[in-house]
Amino acid sequence: MENQKTEGQLLGEKLLLKRKNMGMKEDSEAVEQAAQAFCAPYKRFLDRCKTEREAVETIVEMAEKAGYKPFDPKASYQAGDKVYYNNRGKALILTAFGRHPLEKGVRIMASHIDSPRLDLKPSPLYEEAELAMFKTHYYGGIKKYQWSAIPLALHGVIVKKNGEKLSVAIGEEEPDPIFVVNDLLPHLAQEQMKRTLSQGIKGEELNVLVGCRPFKDDKASERVKLNIIRLLNEKYGIVEEDFLSAELTMVPAFKARDIGFDHSCIGAYGHDDRVCAYTSLMAALEAQTPAYTTLTVFADKEETGSDGNTGLHSHYLEFFIERLAKLEGLCGRDVLSNSTCLSADVNAAFDPTFGDTLEKRNCAYLNYGVVVTQYTGSGGKYGTSQASAEFMAQVRNWLDNAKVSWQTGELGKVDLGGGGTVAKYVAALDVDVVDVGVPVLSMHAPFEVVSKNDVYATYQAFKAYVEAE
Ligand code: MN
Ligand code: MN
Repeated sequence: MENQKTEGQLLGEKLLLKRKNMGMKEDSEAVEQAAQAFCAPYKRFLDRCKTEREAVETIVEMAEKAGYKPFDPKASYQAGDKVYYNNRGKALILTAFGRHPLEKGVRIMASHIDSPRLDLKPSPLYEEAELAMFKTHYYGGIKKYQWSAIPLALHGVIVKKNGEKLSVAIGEEEPDPIFVVNDLLPHLAQEQMKRTLSQGIKGEELNVLVGCRPFKDDKASERVKLNIIRLLNEKYGIVEEDFLSAELTMVPAFKARDIGFDHSCIGAYGHDDRVCAYTSLMAALEAQTPAYTTLTVFADKEETGSDGNTGLHSHYLEFFIERLAKLEGLCGRDVLSNSTCLSADVNAAFDPTFGDTLEKRNCAYLNYGVVVTQYTGSGGKYGTSQASAEFMAQVRNWLDNAKVSWQTGELGKVDLGGGGTVAKYVAALDVDVVDVGVPVLSMHAPFEVVSKNDVYATYQAFKAYVEAE
């Protein structure tokens, strides 16, 4: 009698929305094992890809191993062929030609591979009080105080006037040095502590210590700066003026690590949005011949509003699809109108310490799987692309048919803040779009946290999308 379910219980099971922690599901052990295995190479990917350029390089290498070749607008392609289009080394489109004709549209997974960081200013190096420092201009939405007193590494490229390109990555391995933005000692911080958190460290205080040893010559001026340039000249053959044609950036120097006694999470720099880049990449690389032609887009500049020729506000995706369409005698717009897109980006996970910032009935939780976010934006849904009910129904089908653990999410309480993704720029091309991604704790901090189960569920979601008929 005790085991007999009541009418209300039965009715509840039948009618009410159910969500379950992935760790409480029947297949939890198998899923956790698969998630552990999936995340080991993901951590190495994060360690290798701290800038969009490094991500493009790494993804091209992996794609080539899986049979992808540079796109040739004059070639003809068949189902099963695989090509990539590299946009200036900072954004990338992988394409796997599907069985259905292009007329029926393409499937797009669009993530971004840039992350918040401290870019060096065009003329960064200066000396003051016999310390050599770099001036920076932060990139993306950061809480500036989080970037002081942590180990930083220098990544990027320097292009000399003759076109020679030097790749720089200093601070990832011993015996490399690392760098740091210094903060004020608490003993002398009485005035600083009165500042608001957003002013705790100000933009022009994000100065990076890069050396303090003078060049030994009584007659020389700015001897510490001179000594730094001397060392850079020895190593890279550059002079100070070469900073003018460089893209150099300070990123956190730490590696991706497991978090928790149970190794359930990963702490790392740049989960936003390399976690969606990696999961969509894996789904794409494993697909042999997808039903629909599948475009896996890795965009740049999302963190600063997708502007610029490598951001998705630019026309490169549209132009690329136009070129694909031309191959089959079609118009780009006819392909686009029939296309769908998963805008692959992270969302905020509920953090009980700051629980009053999210609306508990509609926010995402760690370990509840991939987050589907119907709309982003802020204050009355400004700046959003809202997925239609029809497209949401389609997405539910794709995910449920493949038994993917998924949840819905909303970025924060109404009128508390908000944000956007690349979704609206793809939607502007007349494509059906919805945001799909991994819930993240401490988003945009130098060290962000995700749950391995959610990473795995997100990979499964992209796989379901790629494989769906
Ligand atoms: Mn993002
Ligand atoms: Mn972001």
